[in-house]
Amino acid sequence: MHRLVQEHPTASAKMVFLEDKNLDMQHYNASTLCTEVAAIFVGDNGEPPDNRDICVYPVGDTCQSISPLNQWCDPVTYPLLFPRGECSWNTGMEHVEERRTAKRTRVTQLQYYAYRLSQRNGFSILHSSVPKAGLPHAHILLTLDSESKIRTKDDIDKFESAELPDPCTDLRLFQLVTKCMVHDPCGTININSPCMRDGQCCKSFPKQFKDDTEENVNGYPIYRRRVTEPVQVGKYSIDNRWVVPYNPWLLKKFNAHINAEVCASVKSVKYLYKYVYKGHDAASVKIQKEGALDHDEILSFVEGRYVSAPEAMWGLNEFNLSPKSHTVVRLAVHLPQQQLIVYQDGQEAQAIEPAALRKTTLTSWFELNKNNPSSQHFLLRYSTILCV
Ligand SMILES: [Zn+2]
Repeated sequence: MHRLVQEHPTASAKMVFLEDKNLDMQHYNASTLCTEVAAIFVGDNGEPPDNRDICVYPVGDTCQSISPLNQWCDPVTYPLLFPRGECSWNTGMEHVEERRTAKRTRVTQLQYYAYRLSQRNGFSILHSSVPKAGLPHAHILLTLDSESKIRTKDDIDKFESAELPDPCTDLRLFQLVTKCMVHDPCGTININSPCMRDGQCCKSFPKQFKDDTEENVNGYPIYRRRVTEPVQVGKYSIDNRWVVPYNPWLLKKFNAHINAEVCASVKSVKYLYKYVYKGHDAASVKIQKEGALDHDEILSFVEGRYVSAPEAMWGLNEFNLSPKSHTVVRLAVHLPQQQLIVYQDGQEAQAIEPAALRKTTLTSWFELNKNNPSSQHFLLRYSTILCV
């Protein structure tokens, strides 16, 4: 972009997301929110680049580079976050007395931004300045123990509902469902709804009425949605076809939109692992001069990591993207007395003696099982491993 502006000072440039069918679309999916604030950077393995090349163009002067560590850099780059043009973080910024430790007296860049962007007394600088950019949310898959598994359609009806509750029996639940769990009417009622793709609701609303829950259709149940009198929610008249499945207990506990679904097929496991291991979001973009149709005008293709505002906030608050309980070590499996030995020609005998005494990850594992009573339930023998 910088090069294009330098070579064509009067041209306006734009960045175009490429949707190439040959790319893994889980990885390279283009943003569906055109107002989403995001950063795209090219770096090793998705890591943020060490150096940013920031140039300013003083009026009537040539381009000048400034250090990203300069305390005037951020007020110039993000004027909405520094409305009075105040200085941002600098390398000498110190902690207040009570937060200093022997090791650290200076404020890190991460701490500074976590502080600036956090919410205080209901106010956040982000809410005041950034357009709606998608709400932070989490996808959580719970595996229940065999005693608690949801197996029958009666179990499903006990924990899940896709119906408006009776306000006479449970007024609070009724208020919560109508506030948080109704899919905004779309389709012919509201053709411009954000869920509409090619004239269809991407979440398949409105659903069909159904007298009884049906278990496991393509891995998900079809929930009961009985025909009842519609109720007025805002400007729309709503019935059970528009309710997003919810768990009444969770909804009352958290007072928030929580779509809870029962998934009982191996497909959901596959989905989860794909989701966890797909890696960071990426973008394939090209920079081109505004209005240019000629392919020769495309100056560069960029493969980059795509970081949305919610993901950036998640990182600034130092939350983990995925939890890790412990390190998994692969054992060097070998038969008894057949440990791997490396020796030099003619020194076989000298090599065998220490190798016989040396512990391998496998022999240490057996040793641990033998001597540590708390690991007895993990007890494994050669035969067990070989059977696996
Ligand atoms: Zn819809």
